[in-house]
Amino acid sequence: MPANSPGPEKQFAFEIIERNSKAVALLNDSIFYFGELGLEEHETVRLMSGLLAKEGFKIETGVAGFPTGMLATYGSGKPVIALHTECDANPDNSQVSGVCERKAIIAGAPGHCEGHNSNAAVMVAGAIAVKRAMERFALAGTLKVFVAPAEEQLLSRPYFVRDGYFADVDCAFHDHIGGEFATTYGLTHSAAVSAKFIFLGESVHAATAPWKGRDALDGVMMMDAGMAQYREHMTPAMRAHRVVTEGGLQPNVIPARASIWWYFRDATAEGARLLFEQAKKIARGAAMMTNTSVEVEVLSAVWPVRGNQTLAELVSGNIELAGMPEWTPAEQDFAKALQVAAGVQATGLGLAPSPLKGPATQRAAANDCGDVSWVVPMGRLTFPGNVPEAPFHHWSAGSALATSIAHKGAVAGAKALAASAIDIFLDPSIAARARETFAVEIGGTKYAPLIPLDQKPPLDLNRAEMEKWREKMRAHYVTEKVEFA
Ligand SMILES: [Zn+2]
Repeated sequence: MPANSPGPEKQFAFEIIERNSKAVALLNDSIFYFGELGLEEHETVRLMSGLLAKEGFKIETGVAGFPTGMLATYGSGKPVIALHTECDANPDNSQVSGVCERKAIIAGAPGHCEGHNSNAAVMVAGAIAVKRAMERFALAGTLKVFVAPAEEQLLSRPYFVRDGYFADVDCAFHDHIGGEFATTYGLTHSAAVSAKFIFLGESVHAATAPWKGRDALDGVMMMDAGMAQYREHMTPAMRAHRVVTEGGLQPNVIPARASIWWYFRDATAEGARLLFEQAKKIARGAAMMTNTSVEVEVLSAVWPVRGNQTLAELVSGNIELAGMPEWTPAEQDFAKALQVAAGVQATGLGLAPSPLKGPATQRAAANDCGDVSWVVPMGRLTFPGNVPEAPFHHWSAGSALATSIAHKGAVAGAKALAASAIDIFLDPSIAARARETFAVEIGGTKYAPLIPLDQKPPLDLNRAEMEKWREKMRAHYVTEKVEFA
């Protein structure tokens, strides 16, 4: 396998990434402190696209109708390799980095407590190294770099795929932070449909003439009751969970409008679709019995994520080549103290990459990169930028994200990512082989987007929340400029 011999091209890429380890760290930290929610990643994308534009990538913004969707392209012709990842934060996840306690930078503000900031830094650093290697060694082909907004809302990549952005792509790679340096193949995540059910009734004084009103909140509650009854008939991998997003304004006014937002999940796209269809029946029943009406708004719908075995073998070889970062005793002590504070086993930081195992055990969680993985062979890289077992979206998974642990993990991740793309540019027969194994892996499954064909992305999900905090957060932005030498 070419992955097991560094070769001058990969050596060259590794040197670029190492030489720029400070830029990688600054990029990682800049995005951490932007702490931008999905669809509001304006500062983040401006920084990423600026760096890639300076390298000579052609930048397209507004991908698939997303203002923060970006595609940076370098080169031309075959093979076409795509890198894609997310960069969004979560609400109320503001967390001071480098401490072993829950401590917000700004109480209540959004922040990174998973590490999508590092995902973005790895992708940009990896892309710059690949581009420079393509230039230096005259490697033919096209490198496409996608920033996918609002992964936490499972939002953008199904739209990218539906709108043809992956139509000419031969292989794709997705990088994601974790507590280990690893890759796998097979089904890793489940399918999900995210939809809002809006019940509409009629307001009236709830004491003086309630018989004249039609209570939209009753519709929401009856739907919830109907779904609870239906759980008995759900298959084991199905999941349904919800929040009530509107429930009226005050008790003496019968609510004319109420809404409930659901995620429906299953191991297969078809299963998630069937569960959604059942939920729509229950909603119609709830509307009928409460004299209300119901409108259904699909926010997003994603296929399960799958990893291709050929690309997993390639990535695994490059993980070995990049090697686990060498952690200092201080980093190990911090990691263990953080694990104790998070209530997980104090194993410290991993000392070696995880050997390739597969097929993966499919998780109930979803990632919106799933759709990509059913139209092109996809390799998935987990890089060791966070403390093992720190639970995502918990403060403890934010505490290492602007420390040397994230910085070293990002450098290692960028190397493995860059090396994997370089391998295919050097030997496009790997892409052909990945296509063959991909065809066997998906079998007879025909991909069709789960999102409606005419669906427009909802763009204002997080606008009000982000506007509430952005000015206060600006005071914490990293002021030093990110520059790749
Ligand atoms: Zn994630």
